[in-house]
Amino acid sequence: MGKTSQYRSEKLCTPCGKVKKSKEFRKIKAQYIPGWKDKNGIKRVSQCLECERNKSNIKFRKNPFPQILNVAKRRAKRNSIPFEITHQDIKDVWPKDMICPALGIKMNHGKGMGGNKFSPSLDRLIPEKGYVKGNIIIVSYLANRIKSDASLEEIEKTLKFYRRFLKK
Ligand SMILES: [Zn+2]
Repeated sequence: MGKTSQYRSEKLCTPCGKVKKSKEFRKIKAQYIPGWKDKNGIKRVSQCLECERNKSNIKFRKNPFPQILNVAKRRAKRNSIPFEITHQDIKDVWPKDMICPALGIKMNHGKGMGGNKFSPSLDRLIPEKGYVKGNIIIVSYLANRIKSDASLEEIEKTLKFYRRFLKK
């Protein structure tokens, strides 16, 4: 081995066995979490972003509920909307056949949350009501993005608008 400087611009990621640039490793902000320091003295995690993503995707595939719940909780906090659901509430609305109820397409969660347009995602029927029982539904990420926080009227207007252009 060459020099063992504490500060590096590249590092070997053990899980994938590849040497990668420091920016391909996530920064660590918390003091108490161990890591390695890049050449600018920024503390980073030991495995690369790709490996981290793969790991979380595998976790998500096995049990998607904690991740979905965490993301929802953070969003609720950020938008100051109610958050009163549990894992079980998500499980209860999870489509058994994995078909998106809005688009009728098969959803898959092989690529993690928001991994692609077919990933399952949690939608609030009435956005401002927040994450409460009866107001949540699982739809594909694509359907969720199309609806976003639009009202029915807004969706209809948008649809009419695009129809005019695309049906010429
Ligand atoms: Zn890696």
